[in-house]
Amino acid sequence: MNPATDTAKRAAGEAALTRAAGGERLCAEEIVALYDAPVDEVRAVAHQRRLRLADPEAVTFSVGGNIDYTTVCNVACKFCTFYRTPRQEGAYSMSVDEVLDQLAAQVIEGVTDVIIQGGINPEIPFSWYVDLLKALKSDFPSVHIDFLSPEEIHGLEKLTGRDAYDILSELREAGMDGMPGASAEILSDDVRAQVSPARVKTADWLRIVDSALRAGVHLPSIGLVFGLGETLEHRAQHLVKLRELQDADLERGGPGAWMYKVWPMRLQDTRLNGVIPIDEDQSIIDQYLQQVAIHRLALDNVANHGCVWRTMGFETATEALRGGANEILGTGSINAVNSVMETAGKVVPRPSEPILAGVLGCISDAGFTPVQRDARYERLKTFERGGLDGAGNDYVGAFTQS
Ligand code: SF4
Repeated sequence: MNPATDTAKRAAGEAALTRAAGGERLCAEEIVALYDAPVDEVRAVAHQRRLRLADPEAVTFSVGGNIDYTTVCNVACKFCTFYRTPRQEGAYSMSVDEVLDQLAAQVIEGVTDVIIQGGINPEIPFSWYVDLLKALKSDFPSVHIDFLSPEEIHGLEKLTGRDAYDILSELREAGMDGMPGASAEILSDDVRAQVSPARVKTADWLRIVDSALRAGVHLPSIGLVFGLGETLEHRAQHLVKLRELQDADLERGGPGAWMYKVWPMRLQDTRLNGVIPIDEDQSIIDQYLQQVAIHRLALDNVANHGCVWRTMGFETATEALRGGANEILGTGSINAVNSVMETAGKVVPRPSEPILAGVLGCISDAGFTPVQRDARYERLKTFERGGLDGAGNDYVGAFTQS
């Protein structure tokens, strides 16, 4: 280490933080410089920004359904443990009736919003997607449907020869409410070439998301996944691209993305294990909390920033809620097709009482009021703390709802 270089970096980081504290927009170089500013100070400034942009009293969460209509996928991302080749054990594609049956079971459980996604399976014709949406809206007109990812829309472009705007307009007409902003990870074609060479390229991802917004399709979230061998510059450029996308929609009067989220990639069970070096200078928890804070300051035009507890734990999520985040993710989705996910080593539990209890306790420990929201951020329930039990784990019983 060169002490003179270190001093210069720290000065650049503090200068960027001073500008962020003054409400200034940061360029990509300044976002990178924030990684050299004192983390506690970055988190404090991010928290102030969060208090200004989102409800200063509340932290939101949602409980929704989740249906994976096919595990078959021809993109074969190296970090993915979900996909199957057509003849591999665990490969399946659901019929329209099977999806309807799953949603019916979830609606009985109280689900009002559902995310329906899958792999890129060219054996499924475009008419299947249109028929599915029409059937879903006919049987469940009040259920909000977030449908497909930019990667899946790109697959439909290849399948049909039509462009994304045209496809999304027809799907919107058939009943698609929103498109999850998934499949971004790191928006750099250099990184994507290493970890998912057949994945939708950066320019196409941005074009498809912009098409969705122009077609009036709701965008529930956008995000970044770190730990894929990217540099700090890649992360900063990714954030600037998302910020520009958001600006464009807000300027034309659209709502833009509702929420931003960041989470770490776990490579242990993937083909990238041992291929991509793991950052051992900083614990994953410290890295995560630093990302949450810096991204809050970089992505200044998205009001809601989410944090995850499922991979990071409730204690880390509580800290994230004190350092930039105003939403907690992973409360639980209701998914009747858990066997494949479990085979892949993933557990997608139902929104059981212990999970809800943990989420409520986590929010309360951070000093906020838990609020359950729907897909459009309308408040469904507010939970007031009535006192915790001695063991500290019976939070549901300790809260009253209104
Ligand atoms: S496109 Fe999606 S389902 Fe297919 S391999 Fe990549 S991450 Fe997995």
